[in-house]
Amino acid sequence: MSDCKTECNIKKGIHFTAYESGAQHDWPAQSVEIPGLGQIPGKHFLKEALGLTGCEISINSMAPGAGMPIYHQHQQNEEVYVFIQGKGQMQVDGEVIEVKEGTIVRIAPGGERIWRNNSNEPMRYLVIQVRENSLNQYGLGDAKVPEKAVVWPS
Ligand code: ZN
Repeated sequence: MSDCKTECNIKKGIHFTAYESGAQHDWPAQSVEIPGLGQIPGKHFLKEALGLTGCEISINSMAPGAGMPIYHQHQQNEEVYVFIQGKGQMQVDGEVIEVKEGTIVRIAPGGERIWRNNSNEPMRYLVIQVRENSLNQYGLGDAKVPEKAVVWPS
């Protein structure tokens, strides 16, 4: 049986890559090897699958009672944590932030961070990592609109 964890789940066009990450309840099956920490269950980086060039994104599912084993900071990149299910706690520079579905936390590179799921259900979240101060134009300010009627192939 071939391992089609990546190729079978990716559709590419000239200007897009679509990756099927699986349903949220399947996310704990994914894990990533982090040097010095071993396997981190439920974490999956998307840069390679999507061919990202300006940011790194991970999708994460942390089991009840689990937590990161170490603090970390970053050198160049800010991080945005988008909590989409469950609840837990983040600690940044010693300050505790209660997080739950709908909480979004931006942390500057120097912030000393750690987080845990101190609840009884999985905590699911996205982490977006992007170079601090790299954004020149954004939102609709970066859009251009071709003069073209909307057509959906039937
Ligand atoms: Zn980080």
